[in-house]
Amino acid sequence: MFDKKSYILYKFHKELNQSFQNKRELLEHALPAMRDLFKLDRVYFFDWQQERAMLSLKMMCKKEYCMDMQEDISVRNEPAFLQEMLKNGVAKTMDLGYPALYLLIKWKRPSLELRAGEVHSFMQEKVGVLRLERFRKHRVFTEQEIDLIKALGQEISHNLHNTEIDQAKNQRLNVSTALNDLATIFASSLRLNDGLELILKGVQKYFRFDRVHLYLTNAEGTKIKSVLGVDISGQVTQRDGKTLNKEEEQQLLKDVFEEAVSYRSGRSVIYIPLKVQRNKVGFLTFDNILSRRRIGYLDFISLQQFASQMALAIDNARLFERVQELSNYDELTKLPVRRYFNEKFAEEIYRSKRFDLSLSLIIIDIDWFKQINDGYGHQIGDWALKAISQVVRTSLRQTDVPCRFGGDEMMLMLPRTNGEEAKLIAHRLKESIHAITLPTRCTGGEEVHLSVSQGISSFPMDGDSVETLLERADQALYVVKQNGRGDYALYRDVADKVPHIPIAKKK
Ligand code: GH3
Ligand code: MG
Repeated sequence: MFDKKSYILYKFHKELNQSFQNKRELLEHALPAMRDLFKLDRVYFFDWQQERAMLSLKMMCKKEYCMDMQEDISVRNEPAFLQEMLKNGVAKTMDLGYPALYLLIKWKRPSLELRAGEVHSFMQEKVGVLRLERFRKHRVFTEQEIDLIKALGQEISHNLHNTEIDQAKNQRLNVSTALNDLATIFASSLRLNDGLELILKGVQKYFRFDRVHLYLTNAEGTKIKSVLGVDISGQVTQRDGKTLNKEEEQQLLKDVFEEAVSYRSGRSVIYIPLKVQRNKVGFLTFDNILSRRRIGYLDFISLQQFASQMALAIDNARLFERVQELSNYDELTKLPVRRYFNEKFAEEIYRSKRFDLSLSLIIIDIDWFKQINDGYGHQIGDWALKAISQVVRTSLRQTDVPCRFGGDEMMLMLPRTNGEEAKLIAHRLKESIHAITLPTRCTGGEEVHLSVSQGISSFPMDGDSVETLLERADQALYVVKQNGRGDYALYRDVADKVPHIPIAKKK
């Protein structure tokens, strides 16, 4: 029942069932895994640019290492291997005097295009080619191997597609995180306010203004949240936006954001809005009301430049504060991320050993999730993930640690819980998750229930290290999946059903 082929596929799938930053990172996992599984001497990945009749080499993976490579190889007049590959998905060749195999990889990537002044998003098909080589012992590729290789190729395609979607989603966050670098000015101060104070003092001194005020607003620019001021003596004042007179507040906001702010000579006050793209951050006021000195045009220009830097830095520092809080959590499921979980798990194993306590691990994998995505759309997939993680989050004890482990995998660590107790918890989760149905407006009225498979292992009976416990829970999960899904199993109850095949280890 558990044949080698399906287990290899399963393991390969697991290797790739995580979020990759980009195509390169994914290939860095996929190529060595393929190399080890099929005893290959070399694997190449090319982007195939049909219109330019070009194979453009991106990565090369040899027995000892993997590296990025850049080289364009012309393939004019559709050589035989391309034609055969297009027809069958793979093509065997001896063109260099040893067995090699070309494998076709296709995936879609989200893309934006400007048409008639509007932005449209669509899916653009991308094509890649793998070249697998065996030049040392000249071992030919058997039909069985080719079958399996094709299946792994599909797995890679699927993951490339998901990676592109994730990448698009993350782009916004990445841009903002990159902006953090700009905020180095705040690096020496732990809190945003300390940094702002320093900067305002600097500006006041440099330009010799009577007063400088910084008003921070909400992103819509409809409310003032706080006011920070520095006067000529270097004295700092801070006020909460709530203490402002509401009418004055609205008038001020209107003046700053709605009226065009331009330089008028003879003025001794200027307002400069702080914006990052469309988001309003606040505004700065500079005045020489007491000394009645006029503010020069050149000062105005440099203040504007300064203001745009400052807006970025503030926006960024705010984001940074948020990111620090969020970086331990997954946006979608609101569960801790794997890195956080791994730390906690290592700590907890140590504690359990030291004090002789039990500890269980449950790995949860959504059943038929690909079908949910494909049948009802990625958004419904996301909805299901959220609904399930909500159940997970709300049914745990304070000391339990859940996490989003991979794409549709969640992990639960249950301190002071033995295998039998963990089974009860798995049973409860199974029932509550099964009670979730997809919104019927999306399923055409059909009642579609969600289901998960769960694998359990526990310390000390099933293993005493992080790696063993993870592996055993995963093996128990594999058995549940093979038995039809929707259920749970404790490793030691099903240990005799787990196939023992050595699998390529990650470097
Ligand atoms: P099985 O029952 O064997 O688990 O089959 P499955 O269809 O659930 O397949 P599998 O667990 O192997 O695949 C997980 C899928 O989860 C692949 C990927 O498309 C999808 N996925 C991963 N992350 C996300 C996500 O954030 N949102 C959505 N909508 N889908 C995701
Ligand atoms: Mg699944």
